[in-house]
Amino acid sequence: MSAQQRIYRFGTDDHGRDVTEGSSSMNYILGGKGANLAEMARIGLPVPPGFTITCQTCVEYSTAGNTWPEGALDEIAEAEADLERRMGKRLGDPADPLLVSVRSGAPFSMPGMMDTVLNLGLNDASVQGLIAQTENPRFAWDSYRRFIQMFSDVVLGVDAELFENAITQKKLIAGVRSDAELSAEDLEELVAEFKQIFSEHVDATDHPELLVDGEIVFPADPALQLRLAIQAVFGSWMNERAILYRKQNGIPDDLGTAVNVQVMVFGNKGATSATGVAFTRNPANGAREFYGDFLVNAQGEDVVAGIRNTEPISDLKTVEGLEKAGAELERVFTVLENHYRDMCDIEFTIEQGRLWMLQTRVGKRTATAALKIAIDMVDEGLITREEAVGRVDPAQLDQLLHPQFDASVELDILARGLNASPGAAVGEIVFSSDDAVARAAEGHPVVLVRWETNPDDLKGMVAAEGILTSHGGKTSHAAVIARGMGTPCVCGVEAFQIDAAKKEVRVSGTEIVLHEGDIISIDGATGIVVAGAVPLVSAELTGDLETILAWADEIRLSEDGGRPCHVRVNADNPADAKLALDFGAEAIGLCRTEHMFLGDRKNIIQTYILSDDDAERAEALQELLRVQTEDFVQMLKTMSGRPMVIRLIDPPLHEFLDDPRALEISIAKRESDGADEAELAALRDRLRRIDAMSESNPMLGLRGVRLSVVYPDLPLMQVRAITTATAQLIKDGYDPRPEIMVPLVAITEEHVQTREVIEQVIAEVERDRGVKLDIPVGTMLELPRACLVADDIARHADFFCFGTNDLTQTAFGFSRDDAEAKFIPIYLHRKILKGNPFETIDDAVLELVRMAVEKGRDANPTMHFGVCGEHGGDPKSIVKFFNVAGVDYVSCSPYRVPVARLAAAQAKLKRA
Ligand code: PEP
Ligand code: MG
Repeated sequence: MSAQQRIYRFGTDDHGRDVTEGSSSMNYILGGKGANLAEMARIGLPVPPGFTITCQTCVEYSTAGNTWPEGALDEIAEAEADLERRMGKRLGDPADPLLVSVRSGAPFSMPGMMDTVLNLGLNDASVQGLIAQTENPRFAWDSYRRFIQMFSDVVLGVDAELFENAITQKKLIAGVRSDAELSAEDLEELVAEFKQIFSEHVDATDHPELLVDGEIVFPADPALQLRLAIQAVFGSWMNERAILYRKQNGIPDDLGTAVNVQVMVFGNKGATSATGVAFTRNPANGAREFYGDFLVNAQGEDVVAGIRNTEPISDLKTVEGLEKAGAELERVFTVLENHYRDMCDIEFTIEQGRLWMLQTRVGKRTATAALKIAIDMVDEGLITREEAVGRVDPAQLDQLLHPQFDASVELDILARGLNASPGAAVGEIVFSSDDAVARAAEGHPVVLVRWETNPDDLKGMVAAEGILTSHGGKTSHAAVIARGMGTPCVCGVEAFQIDAAKKEVRVSGTEIVLHEGDIISIDGATGIVVAGAVPLVSAELTGDLETILAWADEIRLSEDGGRPCHVRVNADNPADAKLALDFGAEAIGLCRTEHMFLGDRKNIIQTYILSDDDAERAEALQELLRVQTEDFVQMLKTMSGRPMVIRLIDPPLHEFLDDPRALEISIAKRESDGADEAELAALRDRLRRIDAMSESNPMLGLRGVRLSVVYPDLPLMQVRAITTATAQLIKDGYDPRPEIMVPLVAITEEHVQTREVIEQVIAEVERDRGVKLDIPVGTMLELPRACLVADDIARHADFFCFGTNDLTQTAFGFSRDDAEAKFIPIYLHRKILKGNPFETIDDAVLELVRMAVEKGRDANPTMHFGVCGEHGGDPKSIVKFFNVAGVDYVSCSPYRVPVARLAAAQAKLKRA
């Protein structure tokens, strides 16, 4: 035996004693299947004996260029001999042969991705032994032909269709319709034909070991059959579909697969034999019922292949001859659930009335089922509330909150983009916000299709069922707004060449041209775009979700186990605030006030920005003050008794102005229409002013706190609106709790000077209104420099909230609007990046946050810390923010609040 054990036995020996060496905790060594076979054998369930060759052996074999590690083949031969001793039978024995299956089993389930060979050990001699033992020549020849067929296909890559054609031919000659009607003689003839096909289609140069007297011959030696089958399973770890599956499911390539060599049991030995797959509970809705299918007189692959109609598992007990095995299976279900304390998925075979377990694992389930099963198991005393909360996948919870494509429908995918905001939508294509509003008003669902959206598109985005952009990433304007509204959004659909003027879109790589009014379907959870209407299903929001979330809240808000994990919401209108409260948000973590300048208020801010008439500008500012005060009254009233972080204006001002390209076009049009000189001069002047505002890098330009420095009137107006609204509400008996946040601070002095101005206004309003106002002033940390000097800034701030969208953008130097569409996919493909840093927080960016929290807390122990970038709604990031960076809250869009509550509870549980 080498230093590292390569082979682990499972099942009984020749005295019926259990000799199992592995257990369910050895997933990474024995693979999921091997580890659970060992576990079932260990707890006394009927498992056909066998042995598992470790994943590490596969890795060694692959990395050495498909060469066996020293000594491995001897160990396998030894394990084979041991299995023969345990069974009192020999592979290839002409009197009473042992037959085995050879199956793959990786540490993570990869259904159907890798290879399996059944009935190994048959040859011309041992088939006679099988006939003698079973007195069933038909069964024996059928097993042999299945073996040759599978072995040739899986191990040597012979085209499976050649065998299927031969079977079809044989059925024609025999005048029968189904395989089951073929006689023993027919099958014996097929075996000879299959061997011939094998000889003709295997290349001698690749397989000299199969040459007998200069000709390729199907291998009769069971040891050779076994070695080649194991090699094939090892090789299948690196087959194309397995590599792709791992990539899509984030499974590392370097784990390898184990190989399970196990004594064959037969579900096709007549009417008292059967085979099936089952779940211990219903995986679709979680109901406590046995769920699955079986087939009488069939082998495992027949169930999966859907050749014959299966029967529901609940009928098993009623089939004559299977009553006992059916009852035993129900007992096994209970044993498995009690042992694994979870819903299990199993494969079984009944051989002449005797039940055998071939596989089990914790079963996959829908989000609805996950909730129900977790809650039921708490009620049944099987698991604790903490375990129940820990088991539900927060990302899966998203499924429950938005409509989805009907999974039973096959999709004809037109294009793919980024999965920017979950949920599916179906509607007519419109290319402008005005058209979106108009069509929606006529009662037509629409999907707004734009190159990218800007603040001006808000009304169209609100009117649309879904949003598609051909440009922009997951933190682009469209994505952020759509998530906030809970509207499905796919962005960065680069294949869409949109011509908004012509109202058409060409789909690159195809001849397809879509026009306004054509129906499309988008799925914002997967980024898939389909032409035409895909049926949607809306998952039911049951009381189970509320129950789990209430338990999650108890855990995350408890003072036990360290700092509580709070969840706030990003909301900038009363409807979103109300929705978020219903979803369980504790406070507003980010109110982006610039969103309050859109719609019919845009012309007011445009006047303020563009006019050079002081009186006109003052009037515009006055009007903005009036409308913002009204907004804050509404918002603070909705949030009475709860904190509301209000961020001063942040984006570059030109975002509020007309698009200069569009303005140029309309000037040219007015010119050709013969408009008078005065009008044209005014338009040209406007264009000149807009051009003067443009910057090369607006994201790094005049935005955030810099705006407050250059245009002090704006923050003054905003603070006055906040304080006036607060004073009024206090007088009206409410409990408004605004917190003012200064965005994009890099330098302490930026914060200090802005804070001075803010406090002057607060003091003035206190004086004027005769109320005491206690309004904390905090800093938004979203630039690396600010994180580095966080201790200094902290001395002047009441809280920090991390804008991780901008922090990621500036730490990487990746444009948040372009990177995800332009190069991040290539970086992911080339493994330069492990994940998209705009989706899940990057460890280096997280380190900036951690360091700034530490510095801030040291310098100012009374401060609180939050995160309000998009990462605040990502379950993986949430756990890191709470447990690595030590923040007090995360803040996310309303629809992600339930997900964040669950993830926050899981963060707390992970600390224990
Ligand atoms: C951020 O940068 O993370 C943030 C929340 O601000 P915005 O997305 O509005 O720039
Ligand atoms: Mg920001």
